[in-house]
Amino acid sequence: VRSLYIHIPFCRGTCDYCDFLSFPLDREEVLQRYLEALCVEMAFYSGEVFQTLYLGGGTPSILSAEQISMIDRCLHDSFNLDGLREFTLEVNPETVDPVVARRWTRAGVNRVSLGVQSFDEQVLSAHHRRARPCDVHRAFQIFRQCGVANLNVDLILGLQLCHAVPEERAAVRIFEEDLNRAVALSPEHISLYILSLPEESTSTAKEHPSFSEQTVENLYLHPVRFLADHGFPQYEISNFARPGFESVHNRQYWRGGEYRGLGLGSVSTLGNRRMRNVETLQDYLHLTESGRRPVGEMEVLDSPVLKFEKIMLALRQRDGMDSGELLGGMPQPRKSELLGYLTSLRKLGFCEPAERRLALTPKGYLRSNVIIADIIRLMANP
Ligand code: SF4
Repeated sequence: VRSLYIHIPFCRGTCDYCDFLSFPLDREEVLQRYLEALCVEMAFYSGEVFQTLYLGGGTPSILSAEQISMIDRCLHDSFNLDGLREFTLEVNPETVDPVVARRWTRAGVNRVSLGVQSFDEQVLSAHHRRARPCDVHRAFQIFRQCGVANLNVDLILGLQLCHAVPEERAAVRIFEEDLNRAVALSPEHISLYILSLPEESTSTAKEHPSFSEQTVENLYLHPVRFLADHGFPQYEISNFARPGFESVHNRQYWRGGEYRGLGLGSVSTLGNRRMRNVETLQDYLHLTESGRRPVGEMEVLDSPVLKFEKIMLALRQRDGMDSGELLGGMPQPRKSELLGYLTSLRKLGFCEPAERRLALTPKGYLRSNVIIADIIRLMANP
């Protein structure tokens, strides 16, 4: 399986917690020029075969019907998509209308990821989100009527505590209500991200209070149980799905598969090579328009890096990894030290009791950065 990711970096506004490569679209012609550049970039990789496709952003759902047709044409002119299993579109609910939604499904979209984040009006406006709860219901119904049988709802834990809702108990109630409302929509998939403040300088970090670590822990452990009880077992640190609706595209990343990324700032990993596209719009347009690939950096991944990434990604998934694979080839003293560490994790309830597989528990996911760093350190100790 090889996957294709396409980045559309434009949005209608700016959410105050945003940490993505995105800009407010102030002139429509910039979007058109960007899409034309994307088509040029696709042609550089003509003939490649993909089984999953993900259009992310930014807000890819701001494209007009004509622009969707253009992208659809370029995709089919450049690539072999005969075996496409999953085509996901990221959607901001307020941008959806029935004509455009129909055009997306005709282009092959069979999975829609709705950026809901919270269902609370006050919380959404406090963070400058443009969608209102009624937009979510409307967008959800429109895509259902267009035949999309795989819908994801994105929520963010942490947005609820903000200057509009400064009292922790009230914010906790809103979060619980967000979960109830997400389940009530009856999607196939729910993603739950924990708000991390990327830079001290973001307006969210400056203006909004944040939940204590203990509250985050309680709030994260509650949905893990709640969602499992409602038919959405957890399969990755932030992802919950009805059985059979786990994201094929994302699993491809997490299982170390190959993927091509197109568009501003996109990353491709093919074999042991990783390429990163330039991150400045001007450079991206200039390079593609002058017939050059917009790759800014290329890196050869050596085996320690590949192993580190494999462990990191595996331990964020419910399946975890085979303990034999983790310990294989390690000299005895180091192996014993690592085994001792894994036993202590089991005792603390941070990893599953099975000895043959190493898989973190939800409590362990909350400390996964530290646990993974410890494992890597113990493996590397001379
Ligand atoms: S819609 Fe998403 S990408 Fe756009 S500004 Fe908001 S958080 Fe950022």
